[in-house]
Amino acid sequence: MSRLEMSGRREEGRGQRPRVLILGGGFGGIGAARKLADANADVVLVDRNDYHTFQPLLYQVATDLLETAAVGHALRDLFHDQPNASVHQGTVTSIDVDKKVVEFEDRAPLDYDYLVVALGATVNFFGTKGADEYGFPMYTLVDAVRLKEHVLDRWEAADRDPSLVDDGVLNIVVVGGGPTGVESVGALAELYRSNFAEDYPDLPQEKARLILVEASPTLFAMFKQDIRDYTTKALEQRGVEVLVGESVESVTPTRVTLKSGKVLEAHTLVWGAGLQASPLGSSLPVELQRGRRVPAEPDLSLAGHPEVFAVGDVAWITDSKTNEVLPQLGSVALQAGERAGENIARLLEGKATKAFEYEDKGTMATIGRGAAVVQFRRGRTMKGKAASLAWGTVHLALLSTGEDRAKAVIDWTWAGFTHERPSRISVRTDVNDEKRSEK
Ligand SMILES: Cc1cc2nc3c(=O)[nH]c(=O)nc-3n(C[C@H](O)[C@H](O)[C@H](O)COP(=O)(O)OP(=O)(O)OC[C@H]3O[C@@H](n4cnc5c(N)ncnc54)[C@H](O)[C@@H]3O)c2cc1C
Repeated sequence: MSRLEMSGRREEGRGQRPRVLILGGGFGGIGAARKLADANADVVLVDRNDYHTFQPLLYQVATDLLETAAVGHALRDLFHDQPNASVHQGTVTSIDVDKKVVEFEDRAPLDYDYLVVALGATVNFFGTKGADEYGFPMYTLVDAVRLKEHVLDRWEAADRDPSLVDDGVLNIVVVGGGPTGVESVGALAELYRSNFAEDYPDLPQEKARLILVEASPTLFAMFKQDIRDYTTKALEQRGVEVLVGESVESVTPTRVTLKSGKVLEAHTLVWGAGLQASPLGSSLPVELQRGRRVPAEPDLSLAGHPEVFAVGDVAWITDSKTNEVLPQLGSVALQAGERAGENIARLLEGKATKAFEYEDKGTMATIGRGAAVVQFRRGRTMKGKAASLAWGTVHLALLSTGEDRAKAVIDWTWAGFTHERPSRISVRTDVNDEKRSEK
């Protein structure tokens, strides 16, 4: 029983206005909080981190193009101009929609009048042996920094002992032919073939292999054939080996074994093959859908609980206009979060909620500099530089503040012109430096 339940009363220090509790400060949570700026309610946003992660740019952190501050933005900073909102750090452990209480690992429980569940998703290794232990997923800022540090460490190891090259110290296997896998391997290829080639001229660059493994017969199954062909060609031109119809059986620190029996020498495995919604969805009284996603009603509320809303990657959202289940994308999360916020504002004013309709600006992915793909809803496709521009425009709109957008434009333009990767250093926090060890 929670401390709040035991006391059997309203939480101490709680204001008189209704409380809207938002769990998760991703695109969904931020979108909801923003739309409640004028509501007569206390908006409380809780995230386990004190920052929002702009996931579409995680590859750029992993490949040293951007620094962490360009991709992680302080959540408190985002709400300085919203007097009815407060931000807290806390890890959710359970949600009780009957008692209207949320419990946390590291702070007192919070009760609510309205709840927005926007807890995102986590990586799914599908039980692949060794993948959890030795693989590098790409879902959080910590994942991106870990991968970056590991890759730099492997090149330094090869520099110290070039005999490791034949053992696969520089090789990377990327798993998954969807956007995460393709975008990751594309970004790694640029890092390998340009910057590392110059940084480590004594190492045999031609032996540094980048291998993309996809279980189905094609990359980018969600795109049309012309995009698939373009993508495979663009990756191969960047020196990526594409293996389709192959899946990973097991992983060790230095080897990746495929189900076909083939063994790949590689000291790095990047996992971009699957997601599952936050495990906290199972606290809710609904039957979860594929990928553990929480089914949302047309207005994004939970069946039988009009005061609870589920948005973003954690939710199974059906577009009211097309009746199609929407993909786990930043633009879906942001728009759904905004609609949930608007609906709560309407309920607070005694008005009826509105169904969610997604405004689809196209499905898109970047493969490398000047190489991107876009597929619009009616099937028209775009490739190359024009698609890169479309990707940039749509993703700029996802950034939280005008200041972020301006900074991103400067960073991207600078990187585009100079090809520089300023973050290509490894700052060790696990070893004592000279000064500290003198003490
Ligand atoms: C590498 C990568 C690239 C992508 N590229 C694109 C792209 O180019 N375009 C696009 O549209 N989409 C892209 N996506 C998808 C997009 O980023 C997600 O769909 C979007 O972030 C989902 O938003 P969300 O708010 O639902 O979840 P998230 O952004 O994941 O936010 C969930 C929040 O909940 C917090 N949280 C989780 N569990 C707990 C807990 N127990 N307690 C407290 N807090 C918790 C997390 O810290 C996080 O801040 C990409 C995703 C990845 C991983």
